[in-house]
Amino acid sequence: MELVIEDLLKMSGDKELVRIAEKVLEEKRLTEEEALYLYRSDDLALVGHLAEFVNRKKNGMNAYFIINRQINPTNVCVYQCDFCAFGVKRSDPKAYEMEMDEILKKVEETYRMGGKEIHMVGGIPAHWDYDKYINIVKTIKDHFPDIVLKAWTAVEIHHMAKISKKSYREVLQELKEAGLDALPGGGAEIFSERVRKIIAPYKANAEEYLEVHRTAHELGIPTNATMLYGHVETLEERVEHMKRIRDLQDETGGFQVFIPLAYWPEGTRLGGTRTSSVDDLKTIAVSRLYLDNFDHIKAYWVTLGEKVAQVALNFGADDLDGTIEEEKIVHSAGTTSAYGHSVERLVKLIKKAGKIPVERDTFYRVVRVYQ
Ligand code: SF4
Repeated sequence: MELVIEDLLKMSGDKELVRIAEKVLEEKRLTEEEALYLYRSDDLALVGHLAEFVNRKKNGMNAYFIINRQINPTNVCVYQCDFCAFGVKRSDPKAYEMEMDEILKKVEETYRMGGKEIHMVGGIPAHWDYDKYINIVKTIKDHFPDIVLKAWTAVEIHHMAKISKKSYREVLQELKEAGLDALPGGGAEIFSERVRKIIAPYKANAEEYLEVHRTAHELGIPTNATMLYGHVETLEERVEHMKRIRDLQDETGGFQVFIPLAYWPEGTRLGGTRTSSVDDLKTIAVSRLYLDNFDHIKAYWVTLGEKVAQVALNFGADDLDGTIEEEKIVHSAGTTSAYGHSVERLVKLIKKAGKIPVERDTFYRVVRVYQ
């Protein structure tokens, strides 16, 4: 890999890009200006090779996936963010709310097929009280103590704190006692205040998102971090977003993975166009290069599409997410990916990308290697 990079460097007439590349090879931390320079570079091959160089130092040839299921208990949401096609008003004909029996049935299906994780997030209905969130967690874990429950975004935790008049710490502690194992990374979108005013003015802001994650880390609850890109944000705002994530990771070390999420505009009030594959791959690569304190970068196949996600495994990503079974949120916004994938399909996608498929649990512990 170093030889290919050396050849690419020899061919490059861009002195600044070569200087940054040498810094990467020397394993030095990149500045925000350097991350931005990589983003603006047209040399996708070199940026991708550099990111893959860093990834292989961290993860070798392993590419991870998990047998999991997404459950979205409701799509009713008070916030009505303009970029979201999933959350609807309670009066909307598309509105739904799952009964506890239905949720348990889905968890059981996943458990029976060897699933390791339930990823649960949803809309935020005004009529749900705090106990409902705690009870959902407790009931799932009472029935399936072995399943890992990664549930509720920082936005949902913020909402629970608001309606219960409790602190983030109290809410997270009570959820942990009820059986919560980890937090997903959703709700970060882009931290810039300018952007949030346009796409999601009412829900938890950047400081609140980061404070929820900081508190979770202090309580020993690992979390994920995300960035929704490709709508109204600038490249500077993407890098600024990653800086705040990197700073918090320096402080706590509690993030497990960074997940760039490509925006899908269909059915949203915000509208816009889909991100390009070049933008998707560059975002994976730049995040791998800039976030030197993250072990894992996820190529989330639902938003990237299977083919770009597969290529991303050679642009710095080391994880495809999982079998998922029933993705609803991005499908509301028009993604053409499947709703779920079999283990065989994920293993094949990874092998064809030249990587070793490794089934993992939520905490990136190896469950099985598919040689
Ligand atoms: S992004 Fe989340 S908070 Fe915003 S409308 Fe959609 S479900 Fe609700």
